[in-house]
Amino acid sequence: MLLERGHILTDSPDEADVVLFNTCSVRKHAEDRAISNIGTLKRLKEKRPETIIGVVGCMAKAYKEKLLEKLPHVDFICGPANIYEIPEILEKINGRRQPLVAVDKENRPEIKNIAYHKKGVSAFVTIMEGCDNFCSYCIVPYVRGKEISRPSEEILKEVKCLAENGYKEVTLLGQNVNSYNGNGFVSLLDKVNKIVGIERIRFITSHPKDADEALFNAMRDLSKVCEHLHLPLQSGSDKILKSMNRGYTPNEFLKKVDLLRKYVSDCAITTDIIVGYPGETGHDFEATKELMEKIEFDSAFIFKYSPRPPARSSELKDDVPKQVKEERNQILLDLQERISSKKEREFLGCETEVLIEDRCRKDKGKLIGRNKQNIKVVLNGEDEMIGKLTRVEAKGIRGHTLIGGLVLSLFLFCAQLSSEAIAANIDKYFVNGEYENAVLEARRLLSSEPKEADKIYYILGMSLNKLGKYESARGNLQLLLKMYPRSDYAPLAQLAIGDGYYLSGDYRNASESYERYIAKYPKSEGAAIAYFRLAKCTQREGRWQTARNYYQKVKREYPLSFEAQLAAQALSEEILYFTVQVGSFSKKANALKLCDELTKKDYDASILKSKSSRGDFYKVRVGRLDRREDAEELAKRLQAEGLPTSILP
Ligand code: SF4
Repeated sequence: MLLERGHILTDSPDEADVVLFNTCSVRKHAEDRAISNIGTLKRLKEKRPETIIGVVGCMAKAYKEKLLEKLPHVDFICGPANIYEIPEILEKINGRRQPLVAVDKENRPEIKNIAYHKKGVSAFVTIMEGCDNFCSYCIVPYVRGKEISRPSEEILKEVKCLAENGYKEVTLLGQNVNSYNGNGFVSLLDKVNKIVGIERIRFITSHPKDADEALFNAMRDLSKVCEHLHLPLQSGSDKILKSMNRGYTPNEFLKKVDLLRKYVSDCAITTDIIVGYPGETGHDFEATKELMEKIEFDSAFIFKYSPRPPARSSELKDDVPKQVKEERNQILLDLQERISSKKEREFLGCETEVLIEDRCRKDKGKLIGRNKQNIKVVLNGEDEMIGKLTRVEAKGIRGHTLIGGLVLSLFLFCAQLSSEAIAANIDKYFVNGEYENAVLEARRLLSSEPKEADKIYYILGMSLNKLGKYESARGNLQLLLKMYPRSDYAPLAQLAIGDGYYLSGDYRNASESYERYIAKYPKSEGAAIAYFRLAKCTQREGRWQTARNYYQKVKREYPLSFEAQLAAQALSEEILYFTVQVGSFSKKANALKLCDELTKKDYDASILKSKSSRGDFYKVRVGRLDRREDAEELAKRLQAEGLPTSILP
């Protein structure tokens, strides 16, 4: 609204003419932080009295004028249902001494605007406002008003607009998305799923009483909907759930989880839990703990209860002592930590699809993204990968973040098998990894002069490669080349012959096969693959200079290919040369001093910063050499200078 009226954004409150705080009242902690943050602007207001400070959102609605008593430097407060009045409020406020209060509306008018989104990969899209559920501990129905669903046309328009602007993922937002337009949420998901350009859909929050089989069915069948459901349990005690007015029993919740896992077996399920709700006994708490152990949520937000007037539970005695709340909170945090770690470790060694979102904030050299189960993954890579879906192998884990490496698929081309081909048994066997059956079926078909013999020879050769029967694979692939030189499968067969040699460790012959491919099909899409595999072969043979050249060629000449990502990673890993390390320092100045001394003596010295649990280290390295013998020679010269040396790798 303000951007449309000519305002511009700034990152710094010191430069701003208007500072708006959007507040949340769901938890006491959030309110305390908001008050403290708004309080810090008192000095700014004294320095620049013309700066307008506004408090928007649920806290404005919950506390009304009382907020101004605590924060007298605030110029206006505005409830969620009044937010469309902000431009007029700003106009009115100029020159006025009295603060303005706009909290009279109960429900927000229809949301017509396309929300402002910063440039990025992933965006939130509000699909509904307010809530009718009146869970006894929750303030939302009082501050956000009745549940209102946005018209689906408006939502789809916003999502299309996001797709046109390069966004790849949307998260549909609402207090209870499952009651969108009555029971229209699945239909909305289906429509969003059809929007070209959007690759992933998430949604939050689902109320367990409304999440049903139709939703689980849609999560299974709609290709873009991620395998992640946030399903707030709140408590595992029947008595407490009743008092909370949640509308389900622990048993019903468990049944829903079982049903969801039946439909979407690899679905991550996350939750919210409240400990210390009025009347929660040790027995009730144990019930929650047991249910968490049984369900094994992928992650959980655990909160200590605090009364939120006028929510109904605020009339109950807050009778669980603070210390008991603390203890219960800690017990569940520890339990969840164990379960989350166990579940995250299940990804290790497996491939997972990651949407790359950005550079990693903590380590700009790395990229960060999330897999469908909403687990963060960091990996090496180039900026061009941001916004792309990438297959990643989970190689390690740090905290709750997976450390990924790009997947080298030797059989990428199987994706090119035509869709009608998928109908045949042989293709099904191959795609499902049943290579022995694929071989049997191929041989059976070839004995009766089939129509698509070229394709069958190709799948036979690929399957034999997969089974490690490289010679036999080669025989069939060469037959294909001889009998069907003009077939679409001929180039693929040439690559597959190279792959067979590569997999059996015969890098010389593999290189020749890839070179033959490049000579025959220089302009084909597969040339990037052939060059990349040539690089791998030459790297394995220790011809690192040549390997570097091939990787650079792939990166430069085929920038949009998957192999360009892999090549960039190989080049960034510095695995393509020998070097001699002559020192590792915790103080950068010491590393610089040694590096300068060596450079003055004409050594090719450089510093590499590395992190360890004890802090940063600065390693001084000399030389980038293709041959180990040369590195050994260099190490001897450096030892003669009195330096301790080690040859890497
Ligand atoms: S469903 Fe319950 S907890 Fe969620 S917003 Fe509505 S009242 Fe609050």
